[in-house]
Amino acid sequence: MNDRILLRMCRMSGHEMSFITEAFEGEWVVPLGPNVTGFEKDLEKFLGAGLPVVALSSGTAALHLGLIGLGVKEGDEVMVQSMTFSASVNPVRYVGAIPVMVDSEEDTWNMDPDLLDIAIADRIAKTGRKPKAIVVVCLYGMPAKYEQILKVAEKWEIPVLEDAAEAFGSEYDGRKCGCFGRYGVLSFNGNKMITTSGGGALVCPDEEASKKIMYFATQARLGYAYYQHKDIGYNYRMSNISAGIGRGQMYVAEEYIAHHRHRQQYYKDNLGNVEGITIHCNPDSRFDSNFWLSTALLADSLRIKGEEDAYASAVTSTVGGAGAVTGQGADVHTDCEPNTNVEALRLGLAKLGIETRPLWKPMHRQPVFSGFPSYCNGVSESLFHRGICLPSGPYVTDNDADRVINAIKSLIL
Ligand SMILES: *Cc1c(COP(=O)(O)O)cnc(C)c1O
Repeated sequence: MNDRILLRMCRMSGHEMSFITEAFEGEWVVPLGPNVTGFEKDLEKFLGAGLPVVALSSGTAALHLGLIGLGVKEGDEVMVQSMTFSASVNPVRYVGAIPVMVDSEEDTWNMDPDLLDIAIADRIAKTGRKPKAIVVVCLYGMPAKYEQILKVAEKWEIPVLEDAAEAFGSEYDGRKCGCFGRYGVLSFNGNKMITTSGGGALVCPDEEASKKIMYFATQARLGYAYYQHKDIGYNYRMSNISAGIGRGQMYVAEEYIAHHRHRQQYYKDNLGNVEGITIHCNPDSRFDSNFWLSTALLADSLRIKGEEDAYASAVTSTVGGAGAVTGQGADVHTDCEPNTNVEALRLGLAKLGIETRPLWKPMHRQPVFSGFPSYCNGVSESLFHRGICLPSGPYVTDNDADRVINAIKSLIL
């Protein structure tokens, strides 16, 4: 009853060990082998788009290689969704390119297509050069507005790199996320829809592209016995052990996705009618989010117990406590943080053993990216101020969700 309810934990299917055992018995304890190839085939079948998939060591590596696949080089500009996890943007810097952050629209919380169009026109006017790529994210599993985004991308003839790290199994117009851009990124980190304990994949447009990605992922080795190199390579291939976990997870992928969707519907049914709380939903029938995390927005008018203390305690617990913020950003008080009712709800729920989290803080408000261009409309900051992620995932039962729902109701003044 008093067990902690965590935000999102992965769960094993029971099939993983047999694949790992097979790998050990066959001496395939290396970053290639039958599990890697098998997992790639599983993913290709799951996506159902006839696109080749390359299994990699992380989603971040997939983003990095996706940019390389698109020929993004030092000094190029790359349009990126501002409201995301930093891993969508960091690889732009790995290749020495310049991230240009684009704000979100309110329906999906993803990149605003109209603002993207305006931003691209303005970049060309300012720099005389076309941005090299567009990184679109499906945040919390919600597909971006692909029809409009792809129209803008086609108009300017700029390729899309789709960050579907959170959107495994999400669909738009009946097609799986990860298959809309020139390249698509999947993640199997420990907190994602399915896990390989840490891993990712890049969905490629064709065999030629996947060969090129494979080449860069395996140290850019040319076919000589003495290891000839003409490019800088990376060690980004997925381990055969990790891939074994992935193959085991594929047995339950559909079940987990259904469970996440059920969880969001359950929160919607039981919290959706509480004044001041809005559960994030599919904008229309074309969108079918996997609801990797269920999320909610709190109205400014909603009063939560303990609001007066929310930030006072946040300062002491974050700066003083274990896991204290280190380095330059040690001051937790910035000019952009969640509203006090959101912070009070998070702290109140934590006291009741329930873990929640604010939404991703927009990249244009992150100290590390503040020097780069951004095109803003206020949407991502407003979402960040009002939003909270609720416990989701295979371990969160209906009983757990009832506890979360009742706890939230008990904290409303
Ligand atoms: C998790 C995540 C990534 C990175 O994936 P890793 O496998 O953790 O490297 C990239 N983008 C988004 C939006 C993510 O949530």
